[in-house]
Amino acid sequence: MIVGEEGKTVPQVTVNNLEVRRANRNRIYQYISRKEQVSKQEIAHALHMSLPTVTQNLKDLMEQELVEEAGMLESTGGRKAAAYSCRFRARAAIGVDLTKNHISAVVVDLKGTVLSHKRIRCAFSKTEAYFHRLGQLVEQVIGCAGVSSSQILGVGIAVPAIVSQDHQTMSYSPALGETSCRLSDFEQALPYPCFLYNDANAAGFAETWNHSQIGNVAYLSLNFTVGGAILIDGKVYGGDDRRSAEFGHMTIVPEGELCYCGQRGCADAYLSAQRLAECADGSVALFFDKLKAGDEHCREVWDQYVKALVLTVNNLRMIFDCSVILGGYVGSYAEDFLAEVVEAAAQKNTFERDGGYLRACSYRLEATAVGAGLQFVERFIKQI
Ligand SMILES: [Zn+2]
Repeated sequence: MIVGEEGKTVPQVTVNNLEVRRANRNRIYQYISRKEQVSKQEIAHALHMSLPTVTQNLKDLMEQELVEEAGMLESTGGRKAAAYSCRFRARAAIGVDLTKNHISAVVVDLKGTVLSHKRIRCAFSKTEAYFHRLGQLVEQVIGCAGVSSSQILGVGIAVPAIVSQDHQTMSYSPALGETSCRLSDFEQALPYPCFLYNDANAAGFAETWNHSQIGNVAYLSLNFTVGGAILIDGKVYGGDDRRSAEFGHMTIVPEGELCYCGQRGCADAYLSAQRLAECADGSVALFFDKLKAGDEHCREVWDQYVKALVLTVNNLRMIFDCSVILGGYVGSYAEDFLAEVVEAAAQKNTFERDGGYLRACSYRLEATAVGAGLQFVERFIKQI
C-alpha cells in the first residue's frame, strides 16, 4: 500500500493505473506535438490505443490547456474529423547566457520556438547590482514574449564554468573571473525556479533537442574560449567530476602555444575565436566577410585554424564515433567554408573518406541561452 493525498492508503493497482494513464497521456501529447493538426482517429491508429482512451486523455490535456481543438480536418470520404493541436505557448521557459561582458536572455515555448530575445552589455560581477540587472532583463524578455509570469516554468542560467551535478554551484570560470558562485546568488533577483548549466552543454543540448535522428553528438563549442558537450541519446554526459567535453584543453601540439589555463599546446590556444577576430577588429562575423572577399591575411590565418580544427575534429571522431557539430561563433559563421573543413577531416581519417559526420550548428542565434531554457521545457514535457 502507498500513502496518497490526505493520508489515505492507495492500492498499488490504482497507482499503476495512474502511471499507465499518465504514460498514455504523454505519448498522445508528444504525438500531437510532432504534427500540426491531427484527428482523434489518427492518434488512436498511430498509437494503438482505443478511441475512449484517446478521448479521455484529450479531455485531460485540454483541461490543462496544453491541447486545443483546431477546426475540422478534410476527409477523403465520410464525415470530417475534429482536429487537435498543441498549445505550445501554454508554458514558456527562460534561458540566460552569461559571459564576461554580456547577458543574453531568451523566452522559448514548448516547441522550442524563441518568442523573444535580448542581449545587453553588462560586465559580470558578483554584486547585487549585477543580479538586479539580470532580473530586469528577464522581466523584459517575458514582457516582449507576451506571456505571463504564471506560465514561466523556470530560468536556466548558462555559465562558462564547471557546474555541479545538482545545478546549484559553479566553479572554475576564468571567463567570468569568479572562482565560485551559488544559485542562491542569482535567485535573489529571479522569482522563478532556477538552475545553473554549463554553457557548452546547454548549446549542445539545443542542437540535439527534438532531433531524434541526430543520435549521439560531440559538440565542439568554438567561442572565445573552446569547450564542448557530449550527448548520448540526447542526454548530456557530464563525467565523474562534471568536467567532460572540455575539448579546449585537449593537447593537440606537444609543448605548443601557451593556453590561458597555464598548459601548453591546448586546442583552445589554436581554436579560440579570438584567433580569427583579432584579424578583423575583434569581430568573427567581419573575419568571415573578409575571408569571403579574398583577404590574403585572413586566408592564411584560416588555413592555420583549419589545420588545428581538423586535428581536433578527427580526435573527437576517433574517440566517440558519432556526429561532430561545430558550434559557437565560429560554427555559426563558418557555413560557407564548411566544405573545405569536411574535406580535410575526411582526408585525415583512418577509416572513412566521407566527412559527412561533421556539420555546423543549426542555431545561429543564442544556442546557449535556448539550450538552458529548453532544459525546463524538457523536464515539463516529460511529466505531462
Ligand atoms: Zn588549456
